[in-house]
Amino acid sequence: MEILELDDATHEMLRWPMRELQFTIPVRMDDGSTRVFHGYRVQYNDARGPAKGGLRFHPLETMDTVRALSAWMTWKTAVVDIPLGGGKGGVTCTPRDLSLGEKERLSRGYIRRVANFIGPEIDVPAPDVYTDPQVMAWMLDEYETIQGRHVPGVITGKPLALGGSAGRGEATGIGVVVTIREALKALQIVSNQTTAALQGFGNVGQAVAIHYVNKLGGKLLCVSSWDHEDKVAYTFFKEDGADPVFLRSITDSFGTINKAKALQAGYDVRDGDAWRAAEVDVLIPAALENMITGHTVDEISPRVKVLAEAANGPTTPEADLALHERGVFVIPDFLCNAGGVTVSYFEQVQNAYNFYWPEDEVHHRLDQKMTGAFHSVHDMAQRMKVHNRLAAYLVSVERVARAMKLRGWV
Ligand code: NAD
Repeated sequence: MEILELDDATHEMLRWPMRELQFTIPVRMDDGSTRVFHGYRVQYNDARGPAKGGLRFHPLETMDTVRALSAWMTWKTAVVDIPLGGGKGGVTCTPRDLSLGEKERLSRGYIRRVANFIGPEIDVPAPDVYTDPQVMAWMLDEYETIQGRHVPGVITGKPLALGGSAGRGEATGIGVVVTIREALKALQIVSNQTTAALQGFGNVGQAVAIHYVNKLGGKLLCVSSWDHEDKVAYTFFKEDGADPVFLRSITDSFGTINKAKALQAGYDVRDGDAWRAAEVDVLIPAALENMITGHTVDEISPRVKVLAEAANGPTTPEADLALHERGVFVIPDFLCNAGGVTVSYFEQVQNAYNFYWPEDEVHHRLDQKMTGAFHSVHDMAQRMKVHNRLAAYLVSVERVARAMKLRGWV
């Protein structure tokens, strides 16, 4: 970060997590045996506010992935300028192999290990891969049992009945569409004359599709989805525009679009990578990481003007460079998909007041935050003559470094 002229101490602080917790969680299994799971929580940096970040239950979870994701969260909360730091956690486990009771005991065991190190003013977990509002509910209950009082702000992504926020479900997707709207405006492109291709039709992809069509008036040319039975992805094309509400109605809870029903409705079904080569103005990867690489970047049509990284890490560094050289306007992931953490922050604010906002108010405030974040990054890119991803890092790192300096840490 030579551009920011950070001193050595700041640089060193930003290179390492502030605190790492690694622990074992013994869980009584349904068959009477005890299994020992490995759990992690990393608080990367809390100079700007309590650490914030999700919890994953994943077979490949390691301290290294948790550490990397906690750093990412630090930049994400800083880029949207919410008063929070970055953290992340997880347990190495295969949730599919756990009964509901075992999952509950694991969730409660996790909280018993971290209870002294989390709290609304310390570190606030949330759902992530393979954890959901039910897991958050068990964790909240365990924490409140230990504390002997209600502390709803200790965790976000809770069910609505336990202090969750209205509008959390669609928040990431709406945030993505706000950044696309602002990018198109910056490029002086009229949004209702644009076309888009989307990869992934899960939580984020569905909300993106619906809001891109309904709010921006754009035409969704195709959507790709993973078929769990065939174990391949397919891309569903409709020349006169895909209907996201119809597609959602024929999609299962794993995000698989029903091929037979789509064919019946006149969709043209092509291979899973066809979305990437679609002749569109906006490309939206909303599935997993590394979907656009040095090998595949040349497939992208010269017509593409905006790449909105709804997923985390969909573009490899080589592809990123190639896109920059081609003049594609990339909306970097930790800006593009920051809508979820923004509404998690709103959830905490509502918990603190014990007063809950209607969905339209949540979405209105989300729009304001995402628009502001987009423009701080865009202004930085223009001022420093750098590409958007570097500009987003500059905005975030500068904010975190300034907070550390003001606290007298560095
Ligand atoms: P999800 O599991 O609900 O949806 C992802 C979908 O992508 C699934 O339906 C999956 O079947 C599909 N998919 C996987 N591989 C595919 C392929 N090769 N081609 C087409 N489809 C494929 O997950 P999500 O919550 O929608 O998250 C999507 C991305 O957004 C992830 O990178 C996630 O980390 C990121 N993200 C999510 C949130 C959130 O609030 N959910 C917030 C920030 C970032």
